[in-house]
Amino acid sequence: MGKPHVVIIGGGATGAALAHDLTLRGVRVTVVERGEVTSGTTGRHHGLLHSGARYAVKDQESAKECIQENMILRKIAPDTFELNNGLFVAITEEDMAYHSAFIDGLETCGIPYKEITPKEALQREPNLNPAVKAVVEVPDGTMDAMRLPLRFFATAQSNGAIIKTYTEAMELLMSGKTITGVRVRDHVTEKDYDIGADIVINASGAWSDKIAAMAGVHVPLQPSPGVLVAVYGRWNNMVLNRMHRSGDGDIILPQRTLSVIGTSSWVVKDPDQLEMKKEHIQLMYKMGSVLVPGVKHAKMRAAWAAARPLIGSEGEASTGRELSRTFKCFDHADHGGVEGFVTIAGGKATTARGMAEVTTDIVMKKLRMNVPCRTRDVVLLPHTAYYRRRM
Ligand SMILES: Cc1cc2nc3c(=O)[nH]c(=O)nc-3n(C[C@H](O)[C@H](O)[C@H](O)COP(=O)(O)OP(=O)(O)OC[C@H]3O[C@@H](n4cnc5c(N)ncnc54)[C@H](O)[C@@H]3O)c2cc1C
Repeated sequence: MGKPHVVIIGGGATGAALAHDLTLRGVRVTVVERGEVTSGTTGRHHGLLHSGARYAVKDQESAKECIQENMILRKIAPDTFELNNGLFVAITEEDMAYHSAFIDGLETCGIPYKEITPKEALQREPNLNPAVKAVVEVPDGTMDAMRLPLRFFATAQSNGAIIKTYTEAMELLMSGKTITGVRVRDHVTEKDYDIGADIVINASGAWSDKIAAMAGVHVPLQPSPGVLVAVYGRWNNMVLNRMHRSGDGDIILPQRTLSVIGTSSWVVKDPDQLEMKKEHIQLMYKMGSVLVPGVKHAKMRAAWAAARPLIGSEGEASTGRELSRTFKCFDHADHGGVEGFVTIAGGKATTARGMAEVTTDIVMKKLRMNVPCRTRDVVLLPHTAYYRRRM
């Protein structure tokens, strides 16, 4: 008997990490992505390798996932990150009121931290607001949004995965209540064809409920967009966060020669209809300049929006900030009575490897295979290796 075949719908961070895990465990993998790889939310995220500190008070499950994955990624993807650490900065009395809950949260979630004096913080980051009252250093980092997924894809490809870009899943093929494959459209030739599969994984991020609907099932997925603004100039060398409950424009991240201010948050029904709100750009400038006053007059290089794939039902959230950043895997045999179909949704780009591990464990059981996960230790190929086989 040949290897079982798994089709992954979605070529973002989650699909990339899944392709890597599944190929290492001896499965034949095909990824179908309707655009270029990382063309969904992944290629447009902020670029923060989360330590989990941002979620340490209100969303501790996600915070623990972030610190675990942060440490693993440093090992398996060396030279992908700028390991610059992050500063959580209290500027107002309201921020100070959050300080002790923040420290408690870091302790509970096992996130290493160091309190530093405002004087030291200003020596290290001279553009920081001089009104800074308290500062905590954590192991945040900067990442290039595309390179980490490309490293997962490159390694999966070298282990036999087929990655089909510009290939859109149009329909799920079913025999009774069992998924047997995917009908796809090749957007280069505009031809449709079928790909058979033992299992189909829906890793389509903010589009997950649309794909689930093709099988007549539902996932509680709330697309929640945010606006990011890149300004000219590297105003800080460490990741800067306000020390308060997550809010608008309270992170400034250095990315090459730019600084990226983010983000806002609202909810939409359709992730393909993202309005770029002008007032959100103004808000990024306004709130960003509380952290670093100089960015107020910095020239804008670009502004864009992307939709977070958050777990939550319609009507549950008004801005998206109420929803957890953790992830959930749905085996649709148990969620909707459809065999051969699994959805993985939610999470962060930082936690994609962990999401893939949990999902692949479920897929292994369904395939009656007993192969342990190795992605915590296998060092990934460089991102450039992704392009070598793509002519
Ligand atoms: C504003 C913002 C800032 C963020 N900042 C950070 C950050 O700094 N750090 C961090 O760790 N996380 C961050 N995130 C979260 C992170 O970006 C997402 O959790 C992650 O990228 C989701 O990856 P994914 O692979 O699940 O989804 P996606 O990257 O969206 O991938 C899903 C793919 O499915 C494809 N697809 C959809 N329908 C079909 C179809 N019918 N057929 C084939 N393909 C299809 C899409 O084109 C897409 O490429 C941020 C999110 C937002 C919105």
